[in-house]
Amino acid sequence: MNNEKALMLTTKECLIAFFNKLYGNNTPGALRDCIELSRRLPCSNCLPRFIGPLYFPVSSTQTHLLPFPAAPSPSEAAPKPPVKTQKLTKKMRATTELELCLFRDHVYELERNNDSHGFTPLAVYFNDPTITSILNHFIQITSLEILSDTIPWWKYHSQHGLSLLALISGLQRDFAAQFEAVRLDRNKKSRLHAKSKCTAALDQAEDDDIKSKGDISEVEDDVVEPPPIPPTLLRIRNGHGGKQWKGLKI
Ligand SMILES: [Zn+2]
Repeated sequence: MNNEKALMLTTKECLIAFFNKLYGNNTPGALRDCIELSRRLPCSNCLPRFIGPLYFPVSSTQTHLLPFPAAPSPSEAAPKPPVKTQKLTKKMRATTELELCLFRDHVYELERNNDSHGFTPLAVYFNDPTITSILNHFIQITSLEILSDTIPWWKYHSQHGLSLLALISGLQRDFAAQFEAVRLDRNKKSRLHAKSKCTAALDQAEDDDIKSKGDISEVEDDVVEPPPIPPTLLRIRNGHGGKQWKGLKI
């Protein structure tokens, strides 16, 4: 909060006289309070001392208010295509806000000496709604025209518009580099994840293959036929063998 606003909030005297004094308005009666000067609508500090009804004369020029223009029906209103824009992260928004506050101080330092009375509040040079509007349209601000459309109420476009655009463009470049780094990192991680999934699938397939081969060999072991009996043993079995083969059990 700047000093002038703090003084305004704490003063007990007439607010209108206070502001006239603050901004150097020395017209007759400017420094007198509302009751003394019989102002038609007293300020909030003088109101408790005000006695009598508030009187507002009827306007002589317009007896009836004009009707409001009819709003277009939903079917007539052309639907706006959704615009997909990249948003700032919380950290980027905080960084930008800080930079814009520093820019406000910079404009204040440069412009305050150009004021005739020197009591203009800081917010007049670059107020909070201006900062909020820039933050909300930050990515889209790429030219002086767009900047002017974003904050048309700002009085210092011609004096400081270029330096404000340079500040915004510099931050946009930094953030674009950060977005790109995040994108590359995410791609790298997804590639590694896909690779590890692929390796795991291959390992599983190999395990299954080995296991299935083991099952087949077990099956083959079950159905394996006995080797053919040599002819000499056949002779022993049939009682035609020599003595050396006696006792051999087949
Ligand atoms: Zn007053």
